Amino acid sequence: MIGAALAGRIRSAGPISVADYMDAVAQAYYARGEVFGAAGDFVTAPEISQVFGELIGLWCAVVWRNMGAPASFRLVECGPGRGTLMNDLLRAAARAPGFAAAAEIHLVERSPTLRAKQRDLLKDQSVSWHDELSAVPPGPLILVANEFLDALPIRQFELTAAGWMERYVDLDQAGRFIFVLKPGDPQPAPAAKIGATFEVSPAITGFAYQVAARVARNQGAALLIDYGHKATAVGETLQAVKKHKPCGVLETPGEADLTAHVDFAAVAKAARTEGALVLGPLEQGIWLERLGIKLRGLQLAKDKAPEIARAVESGVRRLVAPDAMGALFKVMAISHPALATPDGFQQDAGR
Ligand code: SAH
Repeated sequence: MIGAALAGRIRSAGPISVADYMDAVAQAYYARGEVFGAAGDFVTAPEISQVFGELIGLWCAVVWRNMGAPASFRLVECGPGRGTLMNDLLRAAARAPGFAAAAEIHLVERSPTLRAKQRDLLKDQSVSWHDELSAVPPGPLILVANEFLDALPIRQFELTAAGWMERYVDLDQAGRFIFVLKPGDPQPAPAAKIGATFEVSPAITGFAYQVAARVARNQGAALLIDYGHKATAVGETLQAVKKHKPCGVLETPGEADLTAHVDFAAVAKAARTEGALVLGPLEQGIWLERLGIKLRGLQLAKDKAPEIARAVESGVRRLVAPDAMGALFKVMAISHPALATPDGFQQDAGR
């Protein structure tokens, strides 16, 4: 039980940061495996419609061609979940002659249970697994990450009359997890009122530096899709979801999915520092529409039984509608500066 392990850790060494709490809890949570879909805790875009992964597959094929169709490149997915996105991506991208033979598949996944599911679904492919992106060998790269960044640990700060303090997780007299504050200054913190919360994620920034350095030095592009905001801002976004309902972040450690909104401005800033080109973030609905999701949905529904056609249509709607996933979710590309602008971002390039 991760709760007992964390309680022991706090008793022996004192309160732990929110980031350390999140990291330990996420590891325990994803190790369980049964987390996605109607029977699990939450539903993600690739699990809603195969069209999502297929369009990303076509996107990757065009990027690969624009890279000069290298005979070998690393096709990397971070946090592949059940492997659905990679499976749909490969099926669609295989239409580009040479892509499948050139793609060396690397999955960055810490959960042994999810690795086993990915192995089952991708049994016809040759796949390497890694705990971290740094373990993926260097070389030309196309990287995809959907709802990966939101699971990476964040630190939380609160502005008090005595200045910014960092939030830690401690135990109360009854042995329940509680938040406490310790002195700590987020650098740089935006202007804020007393009581405001500010979140930063060294894990996300570190990931962005790494991705950008790889594409800028070795050629390629990365596609990051997640829910989050375009500008850095104060506000508390850390949340826990269990069986499709919100619950307390400290309530049942290891049994609920902990995520936070991604600060895409921080990702962009880190990526630019490494000399990569940043495109977006764009709203997911707009990006998918530019990639032709409506047409692809119609093709898929054509000549199908009415209930299947309706399911395809409603899946597409969920992915693009602003009141569903279309506006909250954002898409960002990080690419080699000389690479042709990746699909869906042309209209925004150079702005
Ligand atoms: N992309 C999938 C799953 C999203 S859930 C989808 O869209 O359905 C988050 C995924 O990231 C899971 O596969 C989880 O095990 C993985 N993950 C979370 N934190 C991780 C970390 N620090 N390192 C590697 N993988 C991680």
